[in-house]
Amino acid sequence: MNPHSVGEPSRSRQQNTVGEPSRSRHQNPVGETSRSRQQIRVRMAPSPTGFLHIGSARTALFNWLFARHHSGTFILRIDDTDAARSTDESMREIYDSLRWLGLDWDEGGEKGGPHAPYVQSERRDIYETHVQRLLESGHAYPCYCTQEELDAIRAHSRAEKQNRAYDGRCRHLTSVDKEHLAAKGRKPTVRIKMPDEPIRVVDIVLGTRDIDPGTLEDEVIVRSNGMPSYNLTSIIDDAEMQITHVIRGTEHLNNTPKQIAIANALGLNVPQFAHIPLVLDNTGRKLSKRHHGELVAVSRYREEGYLPEAMLNFVARLGWSFDDKQEIFSVEELIEKFDLARVGKSGSVFDIKKLDWLNTHYIGELDISARTDVVMPFWEKAGFDVAAEPRERLESIVTAVGERLTKLQDIIPQTGYFFTAPSEYEPKAVKKWWKKDALDILTALGAVLAAVEPFELETVESVIWQYTEEHNIKRVVAMQTLRIALTGTSFGPSLFDILVLLGRDEVLTRIQKAIQFLQ
Ligand code: GLU
Repeated sequence: MNPHSVGEPSRSRQQNTVGEPSRSRHQNPVGETSRSRQQIRVRMAPSPTGFLHIGSARTALFNWLFARHHSGTFILRIDDTDAARSTDESMREIYDSLRWLGLDWDEGGEKGGPHAPYVQSERRDIYETHVQRLLESGHAYPCYCTQEELDAIRAHSRAEKQNRAYDGRCRHLTSVDKEHLAAKGRKPTVRIKMPDEPIRVVDIVLGTRDIDPGTLEDEVIVRSNGMPSYNLTSIIDDAEMQITHVIRGTEHLNNTPKQIAIANALGLNVPQFAHIPLVLDNTGRKLSKRHHGELVAVSRYREEGYLPEAMLNFVARLGWSFDDKQEIFSVEELIEKFDLARVGKSGSVFDIKKLDWLNTHYIGELDISARTDVVMPFWEKAGFDVAAEPRERLESIVTAVGERLTKLQDIIPQTGYFFTAPSEYEPKAVKKWWKKDALDILTALGAVLAAVEPFELETVESVIWQYTEEHNIKRVVAMQTLRIALTGTSFGPSLFDILVLLGRDEVLTRIQKAIQFLQ
């Protein structure tokens, strides 16, 4: 079966692109044909209508990895033709999140490049020129149907079990008809004529498919308010920006044949496609802003203290695997190993436990100085006066916390008491550990710690053990009783580290406070 070519002038070009591709193109995921041995150019094209979604970050990452692996070009285009929903704030957040992830772009928004502007709202004249050409060549036509008429046509098509909801009736309007309708004040949309023959979609992930044109109605490419549609602007820009591969989520699968039809009608080059599977939650539902809210925002993970390395590693494995075994990949390794051939066809599950595990791993990889640097903003945000603290003490606190950080924000509950005395004692901990003898234990330990010389790890530890032995008190009881007095909670780093880091004066003050509380 031959793919349809609407535009006569495009025939030869079309055969290079969607026409019966050579065997090797099917077999080689990069499409090593003579055409694509040219520089690889890929793009990410977010719509700035909210935060950067995990799924979009994944699209960005796969494009970026593909570009970096092949020494190609990664372009960031802003799809903001939906003026009512697009905001500058969202655009900034998208730029910010991408930069935080380290996904730098070679051309595009804020950066410029040879195909500027990269923001679609600034490219309206380009789309208008193309629409004009489509109208003149007869590949597109104005449609004057009102919404009520369209609803009636749709209902009729459904009753007749037609695949196409719109029957293309405005294809046949004469110029007199059009004048008449325009005189009535009707604002037309513009529709592209769908071809009568199958449209071939070459998809590196999903394989080649021929789409039955009977399932496609004449697509609206310009709305009655003059706004060009996503399908029109997207494929025009892909061609104008010489995109070689369109890598995007399967939610756009239905758009692809429409875009190919538009490109063919305009005689434009058609890129190769790679549709990557959906990201699902653990019940198998598509991860979406609507159902999962903030959970899908990259910025949320940044705020909670996930490291970009962990996030990238995690997102890379959403739909891509190297050998089914390896889970930890540095960025360099991802660039080296990334391959569209190993992108799966089925949805991938967003498993927060795995992200936590990766984050713990990457935090653990940082030396104490680097770890102190990354937790610093979290301390500052929580209002701790870290500027007043000697760096050495801050690093010692981080050392004491050790491997206990899953997210950087965990540093707050785990270290708050190093900066300010606890204002309350956790009721559950108090109930469990502060029994009848708590007052005696704290009074005795206060005396012991007031006298010990010097106030250091070994000496402090040894006088406390000496006390528990002489008075036949379980070590854990003495430790927890003291820990609650010092920190307000029953968990955290080693008690001896805490003692030394607080220093004798602060320890004695806090013990006194706890004694008062108990009395
Ligand atoms: N603006 C579209 C989106 O954010 C782009 C889709 C595409 O990559 O073509 O989903």
